[in-house]
Amino acid sequence: MSVQSATGTGVWGELVGQDRAMATLKRAVTDPSAMTHAWLITGPPGSGRSNAALAFAAALQCPRGGCGECQVCTSVLAGTNPDVEVLRTDKVVIAIDEVRELVTTAGRSPVGGRWRVIIVEDADRMIERTTNVLLKAIEEPSPRTVWILCAPSPMDVLVTIRSRCRAVSLQVPDTQAVADLIVRRDGVSPQVALDAARAAWSHVGRARRLANDPAVAHQRISALRAVLTMRGVAGAVRLAGELVQNAKDEAAALSEESEARERGELLTALGAQDLRTLPPAIRSQVRHLEEDQKRRRRRREIDTVDQLLIDIAGLFRDVLVTAIDAQVETLNSSIQDDIEAAAAQLGTTAALAALDSVALARTRIAGNVTPLLAIEALLVSIAEPRR
Ligand SMILES: [Zn+2]
Repeated sequence: MSVQSATGTGVWGELVGQDRAMATLKRAVTDPSAMTHAWLITGPPGSGRSNAALAFAAALQCPRGGCGECQVCTSVLAGTNPDVEVLRTDKVVIAIDEVRELVTTAGRSPVGGRWRVIIVEDADRMIERTTNVLLKAIEEPSPRTVWILCAPSPMDVLVTIRSRCRAVSLQVPDTQAVADLIVRRDGVSPQVALDAARAAWSHVGRARRLANDPAVAHQRISALRAVLTMRGVAGAVRLAGELVQNAKDEAAALSEESEARERGELLTALGAQDLRTLPPAIRSQVRHLEEDQKRRRRRREIDTVDQLLIDIAGLFRDVLVTAIDAQVETLNSSIQDDIEAAAAQLGTTAALAALDSVALARTRIAGNVTPLLAIEALLVSIAEPRR
């Protein structure tokens, strides 16, 4: 990622407002006495747990401690480094077999890097039996193996695991810090950057997309306005269909470029870039990659839908603070008129009920209810009091 070299912060460029956590991880890279074999990175959604884990992995592998520019750094950040294994799941519970496989991988020496790094993105999604498999591996690690577990909070991980990991906690970065980063990196105006940071609840990646792509920002605002102005069950169901389709399109747009690049890289690595017909062995590798890409695309769809739900929660938070006339800034000031109309019409009770419904929809999707069903139910419940 060229943006990282531009700020001169190497692999750590994606982490904003995390000075303390970053200092701990950086020290572990340079000082063997500060290093350990098991880490637990915790922080709320959007605080950059996965980014922190990947940056740490890259810094551990990079001969220059995380320059962000060399082939080692870029391959780790792109998820193609053979010595860095990432377990991310689109399921509610990580299967015991997946963890067994990881433990086997963890036992092997690194291929070319300095460490074998195993990242588990959702370490909270494990039942106790699975955790015990992991526990053994963490207790008796191979000398060159590092485990990096990520979870929303330390309490989400069993105490047996927690007590064997060094904890690093991330915070929700300050909106102004996120805005400053966007101004510095992308050269957008301070006001646009601040609006984007606020609308994205300090989620750096999301804020950058909003600040840099007017179409994304526009689509977000029209979706929110549609939520405020839809009428009746039919309107709610129609809008749910549109919003879920938008999320799918967005996930596809985000995935297409990297998918094509990965395919090209794989074919080049196999020496098959110029072949018109692929031999069976190569075909099976390509199929394997495609399955992996399909999984990641689905995960991205879910993430995009979740982002929409967070936006809708922010919208009803705006309606609520407007209804009770709290003197705080709204997150979506560009549609203040619609927010005021909704506040007058719904009042605090319905605004609070809408917030509960959003939380319920998120829980349902995390429990594998399809996004369409969950969003339909949500929008119908929001449309209900306004019939
Ligand atoms: Zn490097």
